[in-house]
Amino acid sequence: MKTVFAKSAPGRQGVWPQAPAKDPSAYVPENLLRKTCAGLPSLSELDVVRHFSGLSRQNFGVDGNFYPLGSCTMKYNPRFMEAAANLPGFTRLHPVLPQLKGAGRHCQGALEVMYEMERLLCEICGMDAFTLHPMAGAHGELTGAMIIAAYHKDKGNKRTKIICPDSAHGTNPASAAIAGFEVVSVPSKDGMVDPEALARVLDDQVAGMMMTCPNTLGLFERRLPEIVALLRQVDALLYYDGANLNAILGKMRVGDVGFDVVHLNLHKTFGTPHGGGGPGAGPVGVSRRLTPYLPISRVVRLKDGQFFLDYDRPKSIGYVAPFYGNFGVALKAYAYILRLGREGLVRVSENAVLAANYLRKRIEKHLDIPFNRTCMHEFVASAVNLAGRGVRALDIAKALLDKGCHAPTIYFPLIVREAIMIEPTETENKATLDRFVDDLVDILSSASADPAAVLAAPRTLPVSRLDETRAARAMELTDDS
Ligand SMILES: *Cc1c(COP(=O)(O)O)cnc(C)c1O
Repeated sequence: MKTVFAKSAPGRQGVWPQAPAKDPSAYVPENLLRKTCAGLPSLSELDVVRHFSGLSRQNFGVDGNFYPLGSCTMKYNPRFMEAAANLPGFTRLHPVLPQLKGAGRHCQGALEVMYEMERLLCEICGMDAFTLHPMAGAHGELTGAMIIAAYHKDKGNKRTKIICPDSAHGTNPASAAIAGFEVVSVPSKDGMVDPEALARVLDDQVAGMMMTCPNTLGLFERRLPEIVALLRQVDALLYYDGANLNAILGKMRVGDVGFDVVHLNLHKTFGTPHGGGGPGAGPVGVSRRLTPYLPISRVVRLKDGQFFLDYDRPKSIGYVAPFYGNFGVALKAYAYILRLGREGLVRVSENAVLAANYLRKRIEKHLDIPFNRTCMHEFVASAVNLAGRGVRALDIAKALLDKGCHAPTIYFPLIVREAIMIEPTETENKATLDRFVDDLVDILSSASADPAAVLAAPRTLPVSRLDETRAARAMELTDDS
């Protein structure tokens, strides 16, 4: 596709000034005037609309097609949330408006949303307090790891290590390391954390452990109570990576089962859009003993009912984000939670788990599923049996693109070879799920009959197979059309 500059034609314009532009030197100081032309393209409004609409159609999104990206919960993003986030009372706010009385009345509504949203998340997760500041799941992990460090420092505990299961998402050890911890990996047994192996690595240097439950295999950690008890013995804190919360909404509250810190991904579980780098939001919830360490500011309700941002928190880990995080994302998720309500949220998880198990049962006849038992909201298949034909998980993922389906997550979790991680979410209907299986079966049979065809996929997209490292590191942004 041509760049917008290549489409430029001299003399075309989209806006007709009412009056001829005055000599700019009359109102722009001399030192700020351009010496050379800005080099903007000359295009009509229609040219511009077609250009950007065309680009948007090349982008793959949930609005267009099925997106079974395991671990990432790519669900439909309901439009009513956009309406809520577009209310001018919110969009026209300035982040440094006075908070109280007079002009402060303009931001009281936004502060109330933040306050209420924190209360809702506390209710959903069984935590004592939440902060909405972290701007992504990984940012929430870093915030949580810093809170864990602050807790131990305050108690005079010398703690240097954080434990992560070998099934952990890569951001878990990365966040722990950035927060200054040494990362200790604990091996899984039968796809779950093994308390015996955990006991072997547990000592009085351990600050905490990061867990995902259900884990990245989509399996519920059945021995969770033993794990909690082991950690409590050495005053180590338990961190809940909430990326998989879509499986347990309204079924289990992570605070009730012994987690001390949790991050949520509003852009996964609570229906706000994501992809292309954001924006997201990764609120962090904590148990009562950790509330003093939450980042500043904290939104509080004063006796007269007004809301106020409190910065006077001596034990706080400080700022983790400018202002209050991605407020618009929190606002959309707030609308989502209110619209679904208590029963709706439970149904989200029930249907997500049902859809995943339906797919698992249909796919088990065609692909190996290493830990094949009732799963939660996702499951992990393996393409290892296709190796004899020279076909890998990557090739199946690429072939699915030609069928108009986004590729599932592949090669993660690391403990499954040739992993294909499938998460359908609750928002897809049975016909879509059936079509996905039919497409997959079709690809698998062509992998037997004509592996070369699968290896050549995708054929229908603007680009086929890229050197992914080079594409990211040595981007070519020139127009070669
Ligand atoms: C997505 C994900 C994360 C990281 O969240 P981001 O919002 O992408 O930073 C962490 N853990 C798991 C299991 C995830 O799926």
